Amino acid sequence: MSDSNEDLAAENRALRARMAWMLEQAERNHDIMMRHQAFDLEIVGATSFPELIGSIFSTLPVISELDSVTLSLVDEGDDIRTVMERLGVDFAAFPDLLFAAGIGQLDLGGEPKPLLGAYDARRDARRFPHAAPPLQSVAIVPLLRNRRVIGTLNLGSRDPTRFTPSLGTDFVEHMASIIAICLENVISNEMLKYIGLTDSLTGVYNRRYLDRRLLEEIARARRQRYDLSFMYIDIDHFKRINDTLGHQGGDEVLREVAGRIKRELRLSDALARFGGEEFVVLLIDADLDSAAFVAERIRAGISAAMIDLDGGVKVSVTGSIGVACLESTDETGATGVAADVVARELIAHADEALYQAKAGGRNRVIRYSGQ
Ligand code: GH3
Ligand code: MG
Ligand code: MG
Repeated sequence: MSDSNEDLAAENRALRARMAWMLEQAERNHDIMMRHQAFDLEIVGATSFPELIGSIFSTLPVISELDSVTLSLVDEGDDIRTVMERLGVDFAAFPDLLFAAGIGQLDLGGEPKPLLGAYDARRDARRFPHAAPPLQSVAIVPLLRNRRVIGTLNLGSRDPTRFTPSLGTDFVEHMASIIAICLENVISNEMLKYIGLTDSLTGVYNRRYLDRRLLEEIARARRQRYDLSFMYIDIDHFKRINDTLGHQGGDEVLREVAGRIKRELRLSDALARFGGEEFVVLLIDADLDSAAFVAERIRAGISAAMIDLDGGVKVSVTGSIGVACLESTDETGATGVAADVVARELIAHADEALYQAKAGGRNRVIRYSGQ
């Protein structure tokens, strides 16, 4: 073979190798794209905050081959955290979900642009609090909604060449924009859910929530055969409080009383404001004796100390409580009476006991006796 033929053969081999490499890259890119499309679909379909956050943390590091993915969310006044906690979100399950009190805390510099480059412990350590072993390069991508920064998506790699300042940012920006939309959606949905279930004055559940919850709990208590108890609490002489302190003062008293009741309850108990100055408590797996015991603690708690109002006024308050129980041995369970009938009866029984507490001189607990 002549020299030129050998050259040609070598060139041919090199070209083939290059083709093979390019094909491999194309296949790899296609693969990555498909995985990201599946990820987009997964997060767009998330219907709750924990579901969305869970997807981001479990799927994104895998499909993007990253060593750490964290999220920093702007949460001025702790609204997001408070509402999610009230809705039962367990933040311990998401150690990589971080909150910032304001945009300034995100350390984005002047313009909200992605920051790509070497890991800088001084700047990045708190963005990746649980990443080990040490990260080498990071991408900090702002999450934007209507040009407002709602947080950052923080991507970390042990590969120092993974994120460099010269790398294009289109891909990470696209990913961040979808995550931002999904986040805003689930957060506003959860906020609406929360508003629809709670009483805006006191922050405890509202009647709508409790009526629904009561039906669910009655069904469960019948299935699993345990007792349910229900408490009706009414503040004594509340008209007088309103008359002497004004409506605003009355509202302050309502908020404080709600807090005092709550302090005596377990996590599984549900407290709601039924209207005016009336609260109810649903106690799961509690018989009449134990419910009356809790009620007595609540009664004592309400009147234990004077309530300090804005402006230095102090007022003492008492409450009357009626308690009723739906026992697991109750025949209404066995005869298949509809849950809503049982619910109405349970509420009526507690209300009747409350009436007796009022008639008996107020500031007392009365159990429904069935007479
Ligand atoms: P009793 O010991 O018999 O319960 O006496 P009471 O004065 O508490 O009687 P009643 O339950 O009839 O009065 C409740 C009052 O609560 C009437 C109303 O002025 C007041 N009220 C109802 N809703 C609100 C509210 O949202 N805020 C304030 N400040 N007052 C309210
Ligand atoms: Mg009342
Ligand atoms: Mg009252």
